[in-house]
Amino acid sequence: MEPHILILGAPGAGKGTQSDNIVEEFGVEHVTTGDALRANKEMDISHLGLEYDTPGEYMDRGELVPDEVVNEIVDTALDEADGFVLDGYPRNLDQAETLSEMTDLDVVLYLDVDEEELVERLTGRRLDPETGDIYHVEFNMPDDEEVRQRLVQREDDTEETVRERIRVYQENTEPVIEFYEEEGDLIRIDGEQTPDEVWDDVKSAIEENA
Ligand code: AMP
Repeated sequence: MEPHILILGAPGAGKGTQSDNIVEEFGVEHVTTGDALRANKEMDISHLGLEYDTPGEYMDRGELVPDEVVNEIVDTALDEADGFVLDGYPRNLDQAETLSEMTDLDVVLYLDVDEEELVERLTGRRLDPETGDIYHVEFNMPDDEEVRQRLVQREDDTEETVRERIRVYQENTEPVIEFYEEEGDLIRIDGEQTPDEVWDDVKSAIEENA
């Protein structure tokens, strides 16, 4: 059976980058609520009678999309995957409990990055809409002028929304880290190393535990 991997960390900690590496190395599926929701930002959820009628209205404010919407997405995706790396979920304790009813996990990784570093990474982050590749205005720009010209910023990577996403993370998701820590499953990785160094640690942790 392919491994069941959970990757935790604040927005900007490098979960997407390391998930891509994991997919390539271990042949599992990348299940990510952020991408799934971005692809369904305009989905009509008015029948649920919640505060807003689409996921996008929560996302652009940096708030969490309600659990009933997100749980459903994850349940379906995990059902269809053999092995997986789950990224962006669970983001609160209720989601963590729901997840433990859906499946078991072989490895729980936590990418640890300081708050000011997160803000710098996220506000400078740029996306190539054609390839999905991620760049940074200071640390990592593409050489190709044509690629540079077409880079865009994610709508929720503005400083104001980034601060709110980090606040929401500290309030809702830090308890999730403690939850897995208490269960004794959490593998803490220094996320402030270079991407290659982080990958070395991630890869060894999976090889030792899956
Ligand atoms: P991400 O790409 O993981 O930073 O997610 C972008 C946005 O999607 C978040 O700021 C939330 O609004 C929403 N989102 C992603 N995953 C979840 C989740 N597990 N629970 C609630 N909202 C989520």
